[in-house]
Amino acid sequence: MTDLSASEKPDPHIEEGRLLFAGECSFIKGAVAMDGVPENDGVEIALAGRSNVGKSSLVNSLTGRKTLAKVSNTPGRTQELNFFRIGTRLTLVDMPGYGFASAPAPKVRAWTKLVLEYLRARPNLGRVYVLIDSRHGLKNTDTPVLDLLDKTAVSYQIVLTKTDQLKPAELDARIAEVKAGIARRPAAYPDVIATSSREGTGLTDLKTAIARLIAERNAY
Ligand code: GDP
Repeated sequence: MTDLSASEKPDPHIEEGRLLFAGECSFIKGAVAMDGVPENDGVEIALAGRSNVGKSSLVNSLTGRKTLAKVSNTPGRTQELNFFRIGTRLTLVDMPGYGFASAPAPKVRAWTKLVLEYLRARPNLGRVYVLIDSRHGLKNTDTPVLDLLDKTAVSYQIVLTKTDQLKPAELDARIAEVKAGIARRPAAYPDVIATSSREGTGLTDLKTAIARLIAERNAY
């Protein structure tokens, strides 16, 4: 057997990421206000995105559970932070969707209050993954959320969804466009992860990124 040189060795976080999501995954609770939020426990990551971006589908694909996060497009449903336990080391938070064209002002205010309080009060929050529909790219409705993350200095990374709907050249162009769109944002991670829950693409990249984040957070 030949020894692999450092550059040829597989990234250990690939296997860690696979194992992370292969174990027990369970719903902890939903919180409509900060007094309902569970204790900080281990590393936390959160998923944010416009309603209908494919967030529930991505949670279900990542965990391999068909109905862990309900795939629902009900615009009127209560806005809450949903907490999931992934294995023993990770909490995943499904943030309420944003950006309904006709959302009433009180609803937008309630969303902003809950999310802002959450972002400010979570020292264990390692990264927010902001989901963007690859067919549409960054839109004006995403701007307040990215602004909020920059303002609170919470590290975030863009995850493109539904990439099965684009041709390879279109996807390359979209990735370049999104990267350019976040280049000057201080809390944005420069790389973009491209996923399709329908085809299962990019899930390993996302799991690997999360495993790497956990390793980094536990290193200090
Ligand atoms: P959420 O509102 O962000 O939780 O979005 P959902 O997960 O409920 O998905 C919204 C719609 O997008 C549904 O009709 C899904 O079937 C569809 N969808 C989700 N993921 C994908 C994907 O990877 N590819 C395609 N083509 N459609 C998807």
